[in-house]
Amino acid sequence: MKHYICLGGCGGVSEEAGICETDSCVNQYELLEECDCTDGKHGKKEETEDVLVVKDSNGTQLSDGDDVVLIKDLTLRGTSTTFKRGTKVTGIRLTGNVEEVDCKLGGSAIVLRTEFLKKV
Ligand SMILES: [Zn+2]
Ligand SMILES: [Zn+2]
Repeated sequence: MKHYICLGGCGGVSEEAGICETDSCVNQYELLEECDCTDGKHGKKEETEDVLVVKDSNGTQLSDGDDVVLIKDLTLRGTSTTFKRGTKVTGIRLTGNVEEVDCKLGGSAIVLRTEFLKKV
């Protein structure tokens, strides 16, 4: 795709012809150069999303769908239900919190703290 780049060192790339508008650029207000290279990136960094790295008690990274086991007996808050150490939990779901994962256990959706989990 045709695009326009600044040669002044600011790394500016535009889809339309125009001038560089970067304050600190030596080519500010100079016309952008036409370019039709294939990737059109010109060293521009890809936007990187903040990737949450969720880890189990051993520091092993956890992902959506992983299976884990409990490393201690856990009592479900507000109930008398206890899940024994060694209970296997399949198909965990990451949350926005690196210390917690969602899962289904005993038919109910619960949140587990990653410090009590070990990936299997
Ligand atoms: Zn520029
Ligand atoms: Zn280009």
